Amino acid sequence: MKSLTYLVKDIPTLQAYLESPAVRDAETSQSVFVQVFSSLSEKEILLPIIREIRRHIPKAVVVGSTTVGEIIHGQLQVGTVVLSFSFFEKTVLHTFPVAVLPGKEFEAGENLMREINGIGQVAGVLILATPQSISISKLFGGMSEENTDFPVFGGGAGVYDPKLASVIFLNEEFLSQGTVAVAFSSSDLHIYTQTFLGWRPLSKEMTITGAEGGLLKTIDGERAFDVYSRYLNIPNDKEFFANALEFPILIEKDGQTLARVPLYVNDDGCIAFLADLETGQKFHIGYGEPDLILGRSESVQKELIDFGPDSIFLYACICRRFLLQDEENLEIQTFDRIAPAVGFYTYGEFVRQNGRILLLNSTIVVVGFREGEHKQAPRPASDGTEALPSPVSSDPFSTTHSRIITRLLHFIGVVASELEEANRELKRVSGIDKLTQINNRLKLDEILQSELSRSIRYGTDLSVLMLDIDHFKKVNDTFGHLTGDMVLTKLAELLKNSVRESDTVGRWGGEEFLIILPQTSLSSARSAAEKILTSVENVAFPNVKHITCSAGVATFREGDTPEKLLSRADTALYHAKKAGRNRVRCEERK
Ligand code: GH3
Ligand code: MG
Ligand code: MG
Repeated sequence: MKSLTYLVKDIPTLQAYLESPAVRDAETSQSVFVQVFSSLSEKEILLPIIREIRRHIPKAVVVGSTTVGEIIHGQLQVGTVVLSFSFFEKTVLHTFPVAVLPGKEFEAGENLMREINGIGQVAGVLILATPQSISISKLFGGMSEENTDFPVFGGGAGVYDPKLASVIFLNEEFLSQGTVAVAFSSSDLHIYTQTFLGWRPLSKEMTITGAEGGLLKTIDGERAFDVYSRYLNIPNDKEFFANALEFPILIEKDGQTLARVPLYVNDDGCIAFLADLETGQKFHIGYGEPDLILGRSESVQKELIDFGPDSIFLYACICRRFLLQDEENLEIQTFDRIAPAVGFYTYGEFVRQNGRILLLNSTIVVVGFREGEHKQAPRPASDGTEALPSPVSSDPFSTTHSRIITRLLHFIGVVASELEEANRELKRVSGIDKLTQINNRLKLDEILQSELSRSIRYGTDLSVLMLDIDHFKKVNDTFGHLTGDMVLTKLAELLKNSVRESDTVGRWGGEEFLIILPQTSLSSARSAAEKILTSVENVAFPNVKHITCSAGVATFREGDTPEKLLSRADTALYHAKKAGRNRVRCEERK
């Protein structure tokens, strides 16, 4: 396999190039595959180029896409037309242009994959598609129905002016709604695919509470756009896509972080995304971390060197350009030192991973092609890094932008985790009684409410025990408030140690305590209360020596609220006091 790359200046120089010995010599190959990547979407510009290629190389299969940036020699280009020539010695190409109607994506995907599967010896499949006009998630859903395992890769056509349609093409056939697939059939073609993201969570965790297809309606019950504009101060205008692009939502799925890029906002505050979303999914708003991106780029390059490609294709999300700006070449330039590296900036990257064909956002998909054996000398075993210059420029002033972002991200990360820690501590403290260090009324309310809901849901028992010190006023009057406080603290400790792990003890107020006993019947709760009263009676308290308590027990009934349940326990406690104190009384039967 031989690879050539060419940036089109004009038709006469293209003609001269196609006549050059480099191209002519390679034409004897079995098949010729030409990819065209172009920021220019006008047919009048693209058609003459395609015709010229096919006139000079009649057997050439020309496939292409409009882009939001071209990559040639591992460098970003804007407003150009880039050509990539692959001359295969043994590989046979099969092409599938498929016009797809919205709503018919799944079926189209199934049919396409069935046809590809019928070819035999498929070493890999390139997919170009139009994500603006059809659901790629559904197309890939259909393609995944067929049981195949060869690599699938490619990108979604992009366009600079969102008002124009992005376009893909096969030879002279143009599609603004569909997909073009190229299957590479060979027993000796090896295809390496890898993808990486480099985006990190920036916001707190949020939940999708309303979604339909690629439309995000509500986040934590709030209009999706309100959340985006609150955090990022992004107005809903024609610049929304460009402004929100760097801040995709990050979803954890099957142990993998998937980014989803917002496209535009509807009048009702819903945000349209380039891929389908699911209600209930948790996510963070994320941001790219240059150090992480460059580090991953470097390790993929090392893998590629081991693979020994004849040619490298890159399908990168447009948002990487927005993020890295002038430094974007740092991520891609060194690929070209391994093999000719061409590609384009996309509206979605495609790759098969762990069996599934994925539509990705914010990533770069790196593809290596090799026909035959690894021809290059193996990398020196001593120190592999010498084989490649570091992708990070040694000039410290040329990487200022990404260094600032990395620092700021680190700063935000630290501040966010400090805040989360402080919040956790605040929440803990707000539920604790200052004197006795057990749960206070606020926390008891919260726990009782959730235990009650659980009993209602699962039909399990739940009992409560209201406990009050007998003649506590006398303790204060005789020994002073300080002793009174010590008695309360010691009693709290004793109560905590006399219940099960699943029970909750708290100070309801004054010298009154509440114990919540989940999965406990009235009679078991009564036994527990009696045991507690006996141990209180037998424990020596500071100064006072002995105290006693009275207790009222109530158990969950259908239709109960926390207030109703507590009120019955309170009445039972009142009866215990009236009956002479130091005793347990249960609520009246129904
Ligand atoms: P009974 O057996 O009827 O419950 O009598 P009692 O004296 O325990 O009940 P009463 O409600 O008359 O008095 C409760 C006392 O508890 C009065 C109040 O000063 C005292 N008390 C409430 N909270 C605290 C506290 O935090 N520390 C101290 N030392 N005393 C407290
Ligand atoms: Mg009392
Ligand atoms: Mg009392």
